[in-house]
Amino acid sequence: MKNRKKIQSKDNRLLWILSIVAVVALGLIVLLQMTPTKPHLNNKAEIGAAEDYSAMTFLVATQFDCSCGDCKDVVSGCVCPTAKATKDYIEQKVLQGYPKKEIINLVKDSFGHFRA
Ligand SMILES: [Zn+2]
Repeated sequence: MKNRKKIQSKDNRLLWILSIVAVVALGLIVLLQMTPTKPHLNNKAEIGAAEDYSAMTFLVATQFDCSCGDCKDVVSGCVCPTAKATKDYIEQKVLQGYPKKEIINLVKDSFGHFRA
């Protein structure tokens, strides 16, 4: 009899733990749905692109150093003529419908200074 009681209280504790886990899981789901989604590629303000280039151009430009030799800036943040030429080139490829990976390879070949 004593043994049986012990087992029952263990079961109750297990139920208790299970319901806590369920509540925590529910809370996590709610939290996940409230967190903002990834920045949208078409929303320039969200990813910090200030210039009049497409968001894709900005994203690719963040992966290259300016090749002018004078400034040590990221292309996306540089305003020298070389950076502008690089961005114009990227923009052109974006408009031509090249996938991002290919554009990066083209910029690597034409300008170099890939950052990573
Ligand atoms: Zn530059």
